[in-house]
Amino acid sequence: MIIDCHGHYTTAPKALEDWRNRQVASLSDSSQVPRPSDLSIGDDDLRESIEQNQLKKMRERGSDLTIFSPRASFMAHHIGDFSTSATWAAICNELIHRVTRLFPDNFAGVAMLPQSPGVRPETCVAELERCVKEYGFVGINLNPDPSGGHWKEPPLSDRWWYPVYEKMVEYDIPAMVHVSTSCNACFHTTGAHYLNADTTAFMQCLTSNLFKDFPTLRFIIPHGGGAVPYHWGRFRGLAQDMKLPPLEEHLLKNIFFDTCVYHQPGIDLLLKVIPDDNILFASEMIGAVRGIDPYTGHPFDDTRRYIDAAAQLSLEQRHKIFESNARRVFPRLDAQLQAAGR
Ligand SMILES: [Zn+2]
Repeated sequence: MIIDCHGHYTTAPKALEDWRNRQVASLSDSSQVPRPSDLSIGDDDLRESIEQNQLKKMRERGSDLTIFSPRASFMAHHIGDFSTSATWAAICNELIHRVTRLFPDNFAGVAMLPQSPGVRPETCVAELERCVKEYGFVGINLNPDPSGGHWKEPPLSDRWWYPVYEKMVEYDIPAMVHVSTSCNACFHTTGAHYLNADTTAFMQCLTSNLFKDFPTLRFIIPHGGGAVPYHWGRFRGLAQDMKLPPLEEHLLKNIFFDTCVYHQPGIDLLLKVIPDDNILFASEMIGAVRGIDPYTGHPFDDTRRYIDAAAQLSLEQRHKIFESNARRVFPRLDAQLQAAGR
């Protein structure tokens, strides 16, 4: 089967955005705070928003299951305070849960956390537990920069984050390291902030002993790992100068990269540089880049085509990238699939 490890609910019914706009407006007028129960989206609307969009494209492109989380740019952890984020995360996660119930064969849930700038990450543990225990979610998205482009939190290697890691290890779930919208005019959200964050997260891990403290902790660095594969020699050289072990030993038991690189030469480089045990198929569809590549006539984010066209891959390597790596990195997904006879 083909598992896409990176999809967001970017096509949720407009009522969700309207509710969020009311919540944001209420930050300057506390008499107008909307209640979660003010948001009403029926199953038919949810079904249509998926069938006409993600599921349609999954069928056209030939992927079977998408690991699905709330819209990343809408997490906007910088807005309001912890309670703003807590209500918003609970609403968004519940919608993901309902999608996974409506389409259990095609979607598995990943949670957004109710992060808020400067607020200790242990405040997110309750929502994480709820999503794993009650909703059967198989992972989380962890935002290393809840400030939205101003980088106020300690690095991911700091003990500040450890309460979340302890829960991840306890539940054996990975985190995709995924920022949200940029509110810093210097950084375009999907063109700069996302890729900067991917590169930054990798370097934070490299300069630390995080995975000595948590040998089974697993991070997926999305968007093909930002600049990491392209500059692999730089990272190897930096690690060597710092007297650190080779990166394969130091980081690659814990760090994985997705295939959200939207052209063939980029995918070819990723496949050449990063071991095939560390690459998970993903498209981030329907996401940041929705157009057709005039060079190929195909959508930029139809990433299966690039893997299919990579002639150097053996059948076994292809199987790892499309399926077995995802089942290894998301053991709770593997258990659910096995229970369903898949
Ligand atoms: Zn994403």
